[in-house]
Amino acid sequence: MSDGAFPTKVDAKQQALNETQERLNQPIYSERKVRVICIGAGASGLCFAYKLQRDFDNFNLSVYEKDADVSGTWFENNYPGSALRFLSPRSSS
Ligand SMILES: Cc1cc2nc3c(=O)[nH]c(=O)nc-3n(C[C@H](O)[C@H](O)[C@H](O)COP(=O)(O)OP(=O)(O)OC[C@H]3O[C@@H](n4cnc5c(N)ncnc54)[C@H](O)[C@@H]3O)c2cc1C
Repeated sequence: MSDGAFPTKVDAKQQALNETQERLNQPIYSERKVRVICIGAGASGLCFAYKLQRDFDNFNLSVYEKDADVSGTWFENNYPGSALRFLSPRSSS
């Protein structure tokens, strides 16, 4: 294992191999924690994260977002002085 906060590629590969080996030793249909990755925290990503947390157990969700904040298109595009079709924290001023 590396000393840093983030696992190296080799650590991650070894961890995946260990988990696979562990699963192979379990009876078929044994429950296991599922790792879920969502790319993007726009409306779709946020909705997906909400529904996943609402409807499922036993998962580990990571959401990766390239922008400095969530909401995707609505974060990237703003038109000072124009109105939105519905209220949002950004339209309050
Ligand atoms: C100018 C404009 C105005 C709009 N106005 C409205 C409106 O008023 N009402 C309405 O209902 N719809 C509107 N739409 C449509 C709107 O785009 C969609 O409703 C909504 O934003 C789609 O959400 P999404 O999550 O699918 O995509 P996006 O909002 O585009 O979200 C995708 C996210 O993924 C992130 N991402 C992309 N690639 C990567 C990567 N490689 N790694 C990490 N993160 C990544 C992006 O940064 C972004 O945050 C508008 C669209 C535009 C372009």
